[in-house]
Amino acid sequence: MLNAQAPNPGSAPMVLLIDDSKFVHRLLSTRLRSESIQIHGEYDGQAGFDYAIKNPPALIMLDLDMPVMDGFETLRKLKDHPDTKDIPVIILSGKNSPQDKVTAFELGAVDFVTKPFELTELRARVRVSLQLHTALQVLAQKAMIDGLSMLYNRALFDQRWVEEFERGLRHKHPLSLVMLDIDKFKQINDNYGHPAGDAVITGIAKIILAEVRKMDIPCRYGGEEFAIILPDTAPSDAYKICERIRTQCENTIWPNHPGRAVTISIGIAGTSGEICDSAEEWVRKADQNLYAAKAGGNNRIHLTDFTDGTNTFSQAG
Ligand code: GH3
Ligand code: MG
Ligand code: MG
Repeated sequence: MLNAQAPNPGSAPMVLLIDDSKFVHRLLSTRLRSESIQIHGEYDGQAGFDYAIKNPPALIMLDLDMPVMDGFETLRKLKDHPDTKDIPVIILSGKNSPQDKVTAFELGAVDFVTKPFELTELRARVRVSLQLHTALQVLAQKAMIDGLSMLYNRALFDQRWVEEFERGLRHKHPLSLVMLDIDKFKQINDNYGHPAGDAVITGIAKIILAEVRKMDIPCRYGGEEFAIILPDTAPSDAYKICERIRTQCENTIWPNHPGRAVTISIGIAGTSGEICDSAEEWVRKADQNLYAAKAGGNNRIHLTDFTDGTNTFSQAG
């Protein structure tokens, strides 16, 4: 549902084999065929590293002796890069000295298998590494999800917002940040009880999820406030998405209080290209706009477009 790198139980995990020996590629693709994995092969460290950045695999099997860039250097680069640092690496090597093993483990390898392989043992080691990786991914994903709304939580927002802001800054991409707060939510709790309030939070989370794309990052910011990071989205498009969310909330009939509609107020900060200020300043701006929307009478959107400094206000229906 969310776009965290969740393991997909329906597809065979991809294993990247980096080894300069064609024989090893042939051997492993034949002997690991029964393992329900897809093997992609590269023949030197640099090509393997480049491939892993573009298509992060579930597991890497890495030779040590290779042309262009050897296995230790490749391992160092993989463990230094944020997109590949958590991928388990099994070293496959003709070298067998204790010092090589120590170096490999110190650099972050999860296992070290000596050539010539004992294939039954290699299969077992591949299986264990993949299971461990999947379990860690599930745990990591759970740690990022808010248990009530099932959106990303505040910790994930804080981390991803800085990353997306810096990415937008580097590439001059469009970017929008949305802050959204339920209007007079305390009254729902006070009049209909906390379970009714909880149902409103989960219902609005579902509306948000249905409107955003896979690459967007919808979060529960706290209490009855949500934040949505919209990468590669100009403010005018963010506005359209928010307007759809706003009208759907307004028009929802809630089973616990069918006669009492729920509205939301929304603040947006965005740019069509050039990014200015800081990540914190954007959060402040989106928040200020949210409070301006509330001060303007709730159930409306205030937007700042940093591209040209314009402000847009919506009048609720
Ligand atoms: P405003 O229109 O100015 O936003 O007012 P409000 O009533 O929506 O906001 P206020 O900050 O006064 O109250 C928010 C309430 O949300 C208080 C808090 O008890 C409640 N709340 C926070 N988290 C949860 C939750 O997980 N479930 C429920 N049911 N209530 C929650
Ligand atoms: Mg509120
Ligand atoms: Mg609030």
